[in-house]
Amino acid sequence: MGKILDGKAVANLLAQNLKEKVKKLKSEGIVPHFCVINIGDDPASKIYVRMKKRRAEKIGIVQDVYQLSADTSQEEALKLIDKLNSDPKINGVMVQLPAPDQIDADELLARINPDKDVDGLTPANTGRLWMDNHFVEPATAEGIIELLKHYHISLAGKNVVIIGRSNIVGKPLAALMLEQDATVTIAHSKTQNLEDLTKHADIVVSATGQAFLVTADMIKDGAIVVDVGINHVNGKLVGDVDFENVKEKASYITPVPGGVGPLTVQFLMEAVVKLTRRQNDRR
Ligand code: NDP
Repeated sequence: MGKILDGKAVANLLAQNLKEKVKKLKSEGIVPHFCVINIGDDPASKIYVRMKKRRAEKIGIVQDVYQLSADTSQEEALKLIDKLNSDPKINGVMVQLPAPDQIDADELLARINPDKDVDGLTPANTGRLWMDNHFVEPATAEGIIELLKHYHISLAGKNVVIIGRSNIVGKPLAALMLEQDATVTIAHSKTQNLEDLTKHADIVVSATGQAFLVTADMIKDGAIVVDVGINHVNGKLVGDVDFENVKEKASYITPVPGGVGPLTVQFLMEAVVKLTRRQNDRR
């Protein structure tokens, strides 16, 4: 049976270290402070914003939430971003996605000052990620890299299949894994014969939002399986992976919940602190 990659425990351990970094910043008169802009009433977004706030408080970071109504215009949202960009007290800005239909989320992301881009999703920081000179990374991708590192799982030379090609998870994770010398294949909904790819992978990462997409017959014995998916099935939270059966074949596997999720929140906080330190060192 595969060992559990315990994201929750790793995130809690990292939170202790981060608390110390925040204490040090505070001793220099600096308080990390970031803002989350949430537009509309998406129930999952509200839960994520609350989760972030709880972890921020635990670590000593100030998080402001700008809850905007569902009919907010593009101009209003852009104006708020401009205001936060130019406020020297604010170290980080992020837009909670998804945004309502009238909002062009790409334009909002592109408006965030790259130096305050806690999500690492501005075009500038996305470009830096692929050029291996990044200073901030999308939290889920970075969280997965650090989780594997924590368990001494090297990526060099490994054959990795990432299922999902979103800007938030699949693509940045591919860039980071490539940087660590993995051979990376990105699969998506148009990929033919997915199992032909996953069966040969040393590491399979699934980030699709399709419950039970990854089954035991799709992975090789001893593979490492990372499940990013968050799905609600019959009132239960599950990932993309058929955990009960896949864990019998995998050497390591992340559970849902308690795997990648806590790391995402933790690495958002890591980004806030990193950007705060960077901004103050440059002043
Ligand atoms: P998106 O919807 O943006 O992307 C989903 C990706 O999965 C797309 O590339 C899509 O392909 C691909 N896909 C969908 N169905 C299949 C299929 N049957 N076979 C192969 N590929 C498929 O989602 P996100 O990347 O934002 O999120 C993915 C999942 O991860 C969601 O469940 C989300 O809730 C979760 N998530 C979890 C986080 C955590 O911290 N645990 C953080 C962020 C997300 P195509 O491009 O062709 O449409």
